Amino acid sequence: MLNKAQQDELVEAAKKAQGSAYAPYSNYHVGSALLTSSGKVYLGANVENAAYPDSICAERVAVFKAVSEGEKDFQAIAVVTRDGGTPCGSCRQVLAEFSLETLVLVANESGEVLREGTVAELLPGAFGPSNLKA
Ligand SMILES: [Zn+2]
Repeated sequence: MLNKAQQDELVEAAKKAQGSAYAPYSNYHVGSALLTSSGKVYLGANVENAAYPDSICAERVAVFKAVSEGEKDFQAIAVVTRDGGTPCGSCRQVLAEFSLETLVLVANESGEVLREGTVAELLPGAFGPSNLKA
């Protein structure tokens, strides 16, 4: 469980990450900050591309950075957008791969947390690794 100060810190980190968003097409800048069980924070920002489908969301950038650095145990992820938009379906699925219990904090640019819940709550009935075990 994260206390209020830890949550604020994670949201603040996501706000900073939002500044690195490359979103010239949608102009929808997203920042994320993923806190691992080891206490490390991985930042993410959305990165768009002229070939639109090749774009990637801030949440997945943070998760892929963490996993590629050997971290797979996540405590929480904060996501910041101008209006408190929630993670898309693809990002929910990627988060679900590693844990349904990861806390998701959705905040706006003022740092106000508008939604708070687990990945399981964002993706009920998730398909996951256990489905593929023989
Ligand atoms: Zn997404």
